[in-house]
Amino acid sequence: MSLRPLPGLTLDELGRELQSRARAVETLRWLYAQAAVPPRLPEALPGVSQQAWSRFAAASGLCVPSVRARQEAPDGTVKYGLEFDGVTVETVRIPARGRSTICVSSQAGCTRACVFCATKELGFLRHLRAEEMVAQYLWARAEAPPGQPASNVVFMGMGEPFDNLDEVLRAVEVLTQSPAPQLRQVSVTVSTSGVLPGLERFLKESRASLALSLNATTDEVRERVMPHNRTWPIAALLGALRADAARGSKRETFVEYVLFDGVNDTDADADRLVALLRELPARVNLIPYNPYPGTALRTPPHQRIVAFHARVVAQGQLCLVRWPRGREIAAACGQLAGAEIRDAAAGGS
Ligand code: SAH
Repeated sequence: MSLRPLPGLTLDELGRELQSRARAVETLRWLYAQAAVPPRLPEALPGVSQQAWSRFAAASGLCVPSVRARQEAPDGTVKYGLEFDGVTVETVRIPARGRSTICVSSQAGCTRACVFCATKELGFLRHLRAEEMVAQYLWARAEAPPGQPASNVVFMGMGEPFDNLDEVLRAVEVLTQSPAPQLRQVSVTVSTSGVLPGLERFLKESRASLALSLNATTDEVRERVMPHNRTWPIAALLGALRADAARGSKRETFVEYVLFDGVNDTDADADRLVALLRELPARVNLIPYNPYPGTALRTPPHQRIVAFHARVVAQGQLCLVRWPRGREIAAACGQLAGAEIRDAAAGGS
């Protein structure tokens, strides 16, 4: 195959391949109208000349994963282990009122080594291609319950999106392109552990929403839990967000803050957090730490989480607690490194 699989092609590229924008539109309409992911491209497509289609179908494909695992939590959250070209990654569908959010992976394993995150146990296997990210969305979307369509995508699965920015930007473009699937830019959120060069480029080139995983209010603490903070410290990251706001971007921006017992959950941290974000149009998401075996970190007591939240809100900062979803199946934040995947990684398959 000499062309990218269909889910990784933009409308413009597809139009060039099929020598007509109208044919490209028909093709996208077909793909995104499928209730379930088809096993392969069809022999013919209504509305597309047979000659152009045959040539395209011979050179492209659909990037269909093999499903290695499927687990469903009592709250309806579903975690898939999807294999692409020898690596298995995790994708999560999280139902909410009237919609579902699909959490996609951008790498197999991760290029970063945050001490609190289970994905780092895998090491770095490889970057995912845009079609593999879009295929995760297509796969997880197919089983969304009626009345809860997959209208939101978050790049919060395995991996650091800004270490794989070209492919992530391409996936965002495909997901938000007209006519399909045409997710709203604001409904697609890319989350970063704070890779400054990628962050700056993303802020200039994309209108999608951003989540910055801050997780500490001093460089000293942040370095302990996120080693690359030595290269890109807190002030530099928040400076990039300020510059984006000053350009008038109106971007939806979230600051993610995982709460660790006795590490970053004091009243002084709450006050520093508010001070750091002053004049930044960002909302804070507090994430109670989801423990995984092998670290000394603990989840704060429930009362501490509630008190931290109240203290931040009292100072006028928008802030929500993201109580964990899918913890029972290790599908919550920082838990994506299932045993079946570790086995596959160890076996080099
Ligand atoms: N690499 C990107 C996206 C993946 S992590 C990033 O760091 O943003 C998605 C979110 O899960 C991040 O906000 C991260 O801080 C959080 N997270 C990671 N491990 C966690 C854990 N064990 N408990 C709770 N949240 C965690």
